[in-house]
Amino acid sequence: MAAQNILIRLPNWLGDLLMARPLLHAVRATHPAARISALGPAASRLLEGERLWDAWDAWPPDTRRRFDQPRQDVALVLPPSFSSAWKLPRGIGQRIGFASEGRSWLLSHPIKRPARGEMHLSREYLRCGEPLGVQEVPLPTLAPATKELNEVQTRKRGMGLDGPHVVVAPGAAYGPAKRWPAERFVDLGHRLVARGLTVLVCGARQDRPIAETIAGAIGERARSLAGETSLEEQLALCATARATVSNDSGLAHLAAAAGRPTVVIFGSTSSAWTAPLGERVTVIQHAPVCSPCFRRTCRIGYRCLQAVEVSEVERACLSDVA
Ligand code: SF4
Repeated sequence: MAAQNILIRLPNWLGDLLMARPLLHAVRATHPAARISALGPAASRLLEGERLWDAWDAWPPDTRRRFDQPRQDVALVLPPSFSSAWKLPRGIGQRIGFASEGRSWLLSHPIKRPARGEMHLSREYLRCGEPLGVQEVPLPTLAPATKELNEVQTRKRGMGLDGPHVVVAPGAAYGPAKRWPAERFVDLGHRLVARGLTVLVCGARQDRPIAETIAGAIGERARSLAGETSLEEQLALCATARATVSNDSGLAHLAAAAGRPTVVIFGSTSSAWTAPLGERVTVIQHAPVCSPCFRRTCRIGYRCLQAVEVSEVERACLSDVA
């Protein structure tokens, strides 16, 4: 399918957005002359340096009028929700997206999904590119800007923490069934500090209480930066870290995209479906028979998370540092 103007409705969540990068790069490489417009959350601006689109605007769609000109030939709708297909600008002939939430009648090319976890989500997104004839290309590292790299150095110096650091991310907005116990992050932090490393406990604003508790319990070679950094700064922190240790959250995907060693602890969800993309990613998941249940909370004691020992996370964290 030839296309002059392509509209891409980007995923809403940071992790999903980063798992859509193979598709976004493939669309750009296959259709170099097309004008690509993107609609997405503020977090998607993180990818602006990759030049994957020519125009970007924020979702929700009160700005959609901008995308009625020029008229789009094709829309790729990556979120699976009914509303994301329903609220697209009118008059686009080719509308491609997952056949989900009873919205197939809104799409010209509804893409059937396999059972959850049967195929990695990044490959599901690539399937959405098939009607456009896209060819997969090598995925580049997501590089931070020099400005943020400098800011990170200044911030570390300001805290009196000049040495090598490990990023630790104990949050997960999804719920406790994705969160490794805080006391294990503390134990891990003590072990990393004993090896001469600084521990930067990172996350979103809502992770601040747990991040401050963990950093305080580790001691003076640890600091909480949760809620204090932009996504661009967080990318720079991960890109300059010896390693990142994270629950299954957007921050894990960010560290993996930066190309640095990334250890990801999975609980109730499926690493086969949503493991971060990157050559230096180590997934730790000990799945009991009930896994993956995709629950936010657990009634039987979070066995999947309790099974993950501090020593194996420490080993994974230190096995690929350079
Ligand atoms: S039901 Fe099983 S997989 Fe789900 S959170 Fe509980 S222990 Fe983990």
